[in-house]
Amino acid sequence: MSAFTVVNPATGRPIRDVELATEAQVDDAVRRALAAQRAWAALAPVARADALRAFAGVVEAHVDELAALEVANSGHPIGSARWEAGHVAQVLNYYAGAPERLLGSQIPVAGGIDVTFHEPYGVVGIIVPWNFPMTIAAWGFAPALAAGNAVVLKPAELTPLTALRLGELAREAGLPDDLFQVIPGAGPVVGRRFTTHPDVHMVVFTGSTAVGTEVAAECARMLKPVTLELGGKSANIVFADADLEGAAASAPAAVFDNAGQDCCARSRILVQRSVYDRFLELLEPAVHAWRVGDPALETTEMGPLISAGQRDRVAGFLDGVDVAFRGAAPEGDGFWLAPTVVHASPGDRIAQEEVFGPVVAVMPFEDEADAVRLANDTRYGLAGSIWTENLGRAVRVSRGVRSGVLSVNSHSSVRYATPFGGMKASGLGRELGPDAAEHFTETKNVFYATEGQDTA
Ligand code: NDP
Repeated sequence: MSAFTVVNPATGRPIRDVELATEAQVDDAVRRALAAQRAWAALAPVARADALRAFAGVVEAHVDELAALEVANSGHPIGSARWEAGHVAQVLNYYAGAPERLLGSQIPVAGGIDVTFHEPYGVVGIIVPWNFPMTIAAWGFAPALAAGNAVVLKPAELTPLTALRLGELAREAGLPDDLFQVIPGAGPVVGRRFTTHPDVHMVVFTGSTAVGTEVAAECARMLKPVTLELGGKSANIVFADADLEGAAASAPAAVFDNAGQDCCARSRILVQRSVYDRFLELLEPAVHAWRVGDPALETTEMGPLISAGQRDRVAGFLDGVDVAFRGAAPEGDGFWLAPTVVHASPGDRIAQEEVFGPVVAVMPFEDEADAVRLANDTRYGLAGSIWTENLGRAVRVSRGVRSGVLSVNSHSSVRYATPFGGMKASGLGRELGPDAAEHFTETKNVFYATEGQDTA
């Protein structure tokens, strides 16, 4: 068995070693999950609802501890980390309503009664990336458990600490043993085994488009359903008629939050040419005011990147680009990079590829049709923002942009009560929202004949 040394990205210093599971350990975990699932699915719906509410309560009671772990392991600013831990409890509470509301249909047919049931898949394998270790995990495990499944969850090697703690808190809250198992390990070992194991019946993957494509191919070989939340290159579209001050003031958070390591990052700003210079004049002080530093401080808005490798990868995107201006970042230990705004053209690498760092490409557009064309001019289609005071334009452009999650005069992407997910190379399927628990079930149709039988 080997171990991975988890590092604090703000200091570069080791935190602790985490043992990496072997394929044999995954197989053992799946065997136990299968048994736990049968008992869980057989419980009364209200008992599953109560168990999830209890789990939410225990998470709520540990928000500060979970947040401190995320600050240390992921470098998230403490305010963000606290929000993320609280969000896990909210997601659990929201889906605690699902076991008693997984309604089937009664369909009018001749000669009997036709009824549908939402049957859980069985064991669901969830593969989580390092950028939002707690929230992305919860978007999978909460609705999956609510629907009557067991969950095996692989955190990213770089950021396993909060997921491991959530696994312990589930048991503290009284969830049955083996129902929710967190299995740290390497992607090509633990993650890949989820895709090939015959008793993992569904896979949920969040991460890069390259690995997601491999995961989908493995699942296809097993005829296994899979949901994919992949990369993004989302556009923040600013029309001349917009509240320019509001658009410029909010643009840094829309891309530099979590140091740009966010699949929804608005990493392209498209600005109507007639207000391009004015917008950049307003954006520059907002970028300079963006507070980068010690993630443990309440005032910090952006911490370090997750690793030296990720910082170097992001810095590589800046070779040869036309930098408009830069914010500030600490020097010395830790994986720091200053927020950077670059002038770009639509075909540039910086305007096409997911950087996953604090870099934004700004480009002018001519009119509404040009804005929609440019917004759609990448292989991704996850999120996006539209800034305009013209209602008709807001409706037309939001229908024209091929992205799964858009917001008008705001940058919101994630609410647990609304669906989330991408089009094109950004993914397959949707998470969150009122239907997510149902997505972790398959529909069974049963016809009960009432005629033509001996009723004597
Ligand atoms: P990956 O896609 O490599 O990792 C995501 C998860 O998949 C991790 O848990 C990883 O494990 C696991 N994994 C790796 N290989 C396999 C495999 N063969 N089968 C099953 N699971 C596997 O993303 P990275 O962390 O390497 O990030 C690279 C780039 O991907 C980023 O720079 C960014 O552009 C993009 N990305 C996008 C995310 C998003 O939310 N859209 C999230 C993360 C990354 P392990 O812990 O071993 O790495």
